[in-house]
Amino acid sequence: MNIIDTHTHSSFSFDGENTPREMADRAAELGLSALTFTDHIDVNDYYGSNYKESELMPIAAVEIPKLKDEYSDRLKIGFGAEIGQYLHNPALARQLIKEFDLDYVIGSTHNVRAHNDFFYMDFHEENPEELLRLYFGEMLEIAESADTDVLGHLTYPLRYITGRDRIAVDMSRYTELIQEIFKAAANRGIGLEINTGGLRKQGYDKADPDIEYVRLFRECGGEIVTIGSDAHRTGDIAANFKQGAEIAKSAGFKQIAYFEKRKPIFVDLL
Ligand SMILES: [Zn+2]
Ligand SMILES: [Zn+2]
Repeated sequence: MNIIDTHTHSSFSFDGENTPREMADRAAELGLSALTFTDHIDVNDYYGSNYKESELMPIAAVEIPKLKDEYSDRLKIGFGAEIGQYLHNPALARQLIKEFDLDYVIGSTHNVRAHNDFFYMDFHEENPEELLRLYFGEMLEIAESADTDVLGHLTYPLRYITGRDRIAVDMSRYTELIQEIFKAAANRGIGLEINTGGLRKQGYDKADPDIEYVRLFRECGGEIVTIGSDAHRTGDIAANFKQGAEIAKSAGFKQIAYFEKRKPIFVDLL
């Protein structure tokens, strides 16, 4: 099995526990063929006073390419970023993507405009249906306009709504909107990430997104899927990847991708 983890956080993220070197060593030990670092760039508060990434990312942009050279004989290291809330400052997002010369960009939304991160919400006190409509609306805008390689953890709010807060949602009411997202993404050559973090976080117990959406993405013309663990420490690198690969296969994909200099490299799903 070609194990390629395209979504990982190091100590260059506010919530990452291990240094890039520790992450790379563990990935090599596990026999991964490629590992992409995707530390957070939340553009909505990139220059905020408590936001240490605005200081760390320029360092990462020097350190990770060095690591890439050092490990080139055993592990293909990629320097990517998880751009959070792209739409809240598209000009800054575009500027930073260029400035850091990224291999890979994940477009994620952790909070919709004028709202807090879903992580901090108590959905018993909120209107989950309305928030999901706003959320998928923003993901549609990302698919239509953002400079991104994939859509990150497409069903992120469900980790908290149905996972942590145990509130049932009728997802069928969003199917058309999600189809629109997928068609827009497919048209622009944007891929879909299968984030296995959902399988181990917040009691959600599903990939993010799950099989039905990966299949729908393919039906809408999507050709690129990536698999990412969303590991924030060495212990979660490539976690639940068997399930992730099964989902991609069951949805009809024969290959998964990772990115170098913003171009997909396809690898057979064995
Ligand atoms: Zn994320
Ligand atoms: Zn992440």
